[in-house]
Amino acid sequence: MSSIQIQNVTKRFGDFTAVDNISIDIEEGEFVALLGPSGCGKTTTMNMIAGLEDATEGAILFDNQDLGHVRMQDRNIGFVFQNYAIFTHLSVYKNLSYGLEVKKVGKSEIERRVKAMADRMSISHRLDQPASSLSVNEMQKLAIGRSAIVEPRIFLLDEPLSNLDAGFRAYMRAELKVLQHEFGQTMIYVTHDQIEAMSLADKIAIIDQGKLMQYGAPLDIYNDPQNRFVANFVGSPRMNLVDGELREEQGALRLMLHGGAEIRLDGQVKTAFTSDAKVHSGSFGIRPQDIYFGEKRADNDIRMQGKVEVLERVGPKRLAYLQVQETMFLAFDDQAQLRVGDDVPFYLPSGASMAFDLESGRRLGG
Ligand code: ATP
Repeated sequence: MSSIQIQNVTKRFGDFTAVDNISIDIEEGEFVALLGPSGCGKTTTMNMIAGLEDATEGAILFDNQDLGHVRMQDRNIGFVFQNYAIFTHLSVYKNLSYGLEVKKVGKSEIERRVKAMADRMSISHRLDQPASSLSVNEMQKLAIGRSAIVEPRIFLLDEPLSNLDAGFRAYMRAELKVLQHEFGQTMIYVTHDQIEAMSLADKIAIIDQGKLMQYGAPLDIYNDPQNRFVANFVGSPRMNLVDGELREEQGALRLMLHGGAEIRLDGQVKTAFTSDAKVHSGSFGIRPQDIYFGEKRADNDIRMQGKVEVLERVGPKRLAYLQVQETMFLAFDDQAQLRVGDDVPFYLPSGASMAFDLESGRRLGG
């Protein structure tokens, strides 16, 4: 097990900056997800941790030691890639024993550990067969078992579940969490799937265009996004984020939305929008779960009026698409009281609403 310190790391390919001054502290035994859209720099960051790429600037320390000059094969890192990196022509047994043989572990110890790992992964009945005969799901288990068996100090997983069907993916997700608990290794997990990151990781590093947008525990990030990008990226269904110009008249502050609709700001969210006098255009955020219908619950809650365009079933709930002129709000119809075509009032609780500067994306007053 190891702690990892990524300190002001930048990676350039020619003129292009793939990773831009990222710092992340990973504690021993932590499960950290690197999350972000395609091309944001997740794999490049992972490759630098692995020693497959050198950082252009900055340092990566393991247990406060700079491993810059330590060869990749001497870093004791386990990998699981999207495309498995399994020797398909060798038997399942050989695939599992390979890493231990390289490490010159004794024959009987190898046998014991291979059997234990095969049992653990429920592939014991396949030990003598060629890896090429395994199903996709068994192949995935073998890939993880093969890396775990050498007990690496750090486990790096790059989109390991992306080839799997939805059902098995959910199962493997749970299995990975159990494994991490059992092995106690530091794990770094690359994914573009926010649900995967939210359910697996102790901490999530959200990256966009090579920059670290936020680093923290999943719930802290969900409840307290520090910028518009993170607010938009995390949560399902996504947060309602509506952009507009701020206008103040006779003490009332309004966000004028495209197409003529407006939000009369009140309470905490009004205070947030006024916390920086330089901000003239803003983004108002509210999660669908926080919008409500019926009686107004608090003085500062913001009343809106919209037309129910669509009602969509999401599990046991119904998600309503509410059209306010050219702006759409999503809200849960908890009481199943809405019908398509209804023109209904709904409320945005001021305390649950968030304010962002549209220009920089920065959270205001948060
Ligand atoms: P994905 O999920 O699609 O794999 P990612 O977040 O892992 O994306 P990276 O693979 O780290 O992203 O790539 C980040 C950026 O750096 C991309 O724009 C990519 O084209 C670029 N890049 C990566 N490796 C190189 C390289 N060797 N030379 C030039 N550009 C590169």
